[in-house]
Amino acid sequence: MDNLELTVMNMYSDILNTYGDIGNFRCINQRIRWRDISLNIQECTIDKDDDFEWEDIDIILIGGGSDNNQSIVSNHLLEQRKDLVEFIENGGVLLAICGSYQMFGNKYLDVDGKDIPCLEVFDIETTSRPDRLIGDIVISNAIPDSNNVLNKDFDFKLKDMVGFENHGGRTYHNHDPLGHVKVGFGNNGEDKGEGMVYKNFLASYLHGPFLPKNPHIADYMIFNALNRKYSITEIKDLNDTIEIRAHERMLKRLLNDK
Ligand code: GLN
Repeated sequence: MDNLELTVMNMYSDILNTYGDIGNFRCINQRIRWRDISLNIQECTIDKDDDFEWEDIDIILIGGGSDNNQSIVSNHLLEQRKDLVEFIENGGVLLAICGSYQMFGNKYLDVDGKDIPCLEVFDIETTSRPDRLIGDIVISNAIPDSNNVLNKDFDFKLKDMVGFENHGGRTYHNHDPLGHVKVGFGNNGEDKGEGMVYKNFLASYLHGPFLPKNPHIADYMIFNALNRKYSITEIKDLNDTIEIRAHERMLKRLLNDK
């Protein structure tokens, strides 16, 4: 199909950008361009709202940040709640990393015991502790087929996800996790769950940034956005030799390190 077009929105990357989470935005944009799909970009942050219509947005990327940076975006983020809920319920594609993942939940108690106002979109609770969960992490892919009925033929070239985590927050929920922890801590260091999936909403503690290290997830997001907009059932393959080699090296090192 010709004349495909996607609009990607970058939220708060001037404030929530731990370990270069803006790389997720850059990665997804580049993979869209490489496929000759027209790309529109929107920025949304506390003092710069582009003039955009929510129904034009296909993909949203939000990164992580310190407790302090989370408090800075909190009020502005809460003002977007209604539109974000509609976007997610309508199958919009969204990736939230670390601090922003926590803020989609009901509660985030920071390391000083202060309540940072959250979106209360999902039944997720996070409490921070001074002993942080830090290190490289490997998770298996647990994105459920049932969340992805239209795309069940989508074949992941890579199965696991790799990244780096650094969070004081311990997150608990009963939603589907994004992955199961093979090496590292994940949501809380206890139940082996990492991240969360609901429709095309993905959340994770993985920095890296996450998408350049896991190009299959970037493609999964692009695919879902195209499928939602144009009912497309396949996307063009890219040459990911370097990305796959880097991913597999990290995997090998971490799994053998055990
Ligand atoms: N402030 C949160 C925590 O430490 C999120 C940190 C992050 O985004 N890396 O749990």
